[in-house]
Amino acid sequence: MKREIQATQPVLADKESYIREISSIWDTKSMTNNGEKVKKFQKMLNDYIKCPNIDLVVNGHSALLLAIKAMQLEGEVITSPFTFVSTTNAIVQNGLTPVFGDIDESYNLDPKHIEELITDQTCAIITPHIFGIPCDVLAIERIAQKYNLKVIYDGAQAFGTRVGGKAIAHYGDATIFSFHAIKVFNSIEGGAIVYQEESLRRLFELYRNFGISYGESGNDVEVIGINAKMNEFQAAMGIVNLERLDNELNLRRNLANTYCECLKDIPGIDAYDYSQKIDYNYAYFPIKVTKEYGMTRDELWRRLKDRGIGTRKLYDKLTCDYSCYRNADYVRKTDYADHIKEIALDLPIYGTLSKDDVEYICETIKSMRG
Ligand SMILES: *Cc1c(COP(=O)(O)O)cnc(C)c1O
Repeated sequence: MKREIQATQPVLADKESYIREISSIWDTKSMTNNGEKVKKFQKMLNDYIKCPNIDLVVNGHSALLLAIKAMQLEGEVITSPFTFVSTTNAIVQNGLTPVFGDIDESYNLDPKHIEELITDQTCAIITPHIFGIPCDVLAIERIAQKYNLKVIYDGAQAFGTRVGGKAIAHYGDATIFSFHAIKVFNSIEGGAIVYQEESLRRLFELYRNFGISYGESGNDVEVIGINAKMNEFQAAMGIVNLERLDNELNLRRNLANTYCECLKDIPGIDAYDYSQKIDYNYAYFPIKVTKEYGMTRDELWRRLKDRGIGTRKLYDKLTCDYSCYRNADYVRKTDYADHIKEIALDLPIYGTLSKDDVEYICETIKSMRG
């Protein structure tokens, strides 16, 4: 019998615990506008990340928009084109010019080439921790200090990743997370901004709620905000899922170890080198399909699909390849990213996948080698 293995599967808390969590909403009659679930979820995240400054919003893209907005940036921003399009969109939607830097073996912005991109217009580095693999945060911090740049990390894929014993959000001026259904941790949809500067709190509260401030003598609109509020049903899902996160991360770590072990002897299949002392969240399991495999990435993707194994070609396009960006005058060549987009493939990894499934995927990849 043919096995069907999906490329991704959302983490869903058990139905009873979600229903128990949302039932008080019928008592409070509060479905949104910073209700008690959002406050409880925020408090749990403060404890989990060990950071007092967190603002919850409706999704990761809004978190990114607001993080950039609140920093009041102008000019050029150094970023990676090897990302989900949200990163580039948020930069451009804030009136900033993206300056695309190349990536390195970590799939992230290569710090060695950042300095050559800095001009007197550069105000910030805004870049993702792609696949949950952290950027070289210490190298980026040194550059940011030297040139007085803000650093905002798009940590949409990196919730749960830890560097130097600290949650990834402790690096940079701000880090955003996405709690979308397909991320490692979800609140159906949702997002958070984690930031270092306590004084930004008021701005985030204003911007996510149209800019309205409530005063004794009436309301005012102090800044031109948007509506990015998280609702109570989202927060409730976040609350029940957060309790399962460490378990999910453990399951993924074990699966990743199995992958590394089973793939290491297959010529032309290069897994990421996870040997550094970093706690990865294993949000994705990227491999590179090189010449020695005897088949292109696209061909492997298609043949696995025929065998019932779903994989994802993340990212087979750089954000600057899309038609809305392609002809922009700021688009520049990034040779290594252009190469990686041809050979990168993400294998299935999620807590409900079994060790046996992973072994089967690896065996299949091995047996199909050209
Ligand atoms: C998912 C994702 C986002 C957007 O998050 P949403 O919650 O879907 O709005 C932004 N950046 C990256 C890198 C992502 O993977």
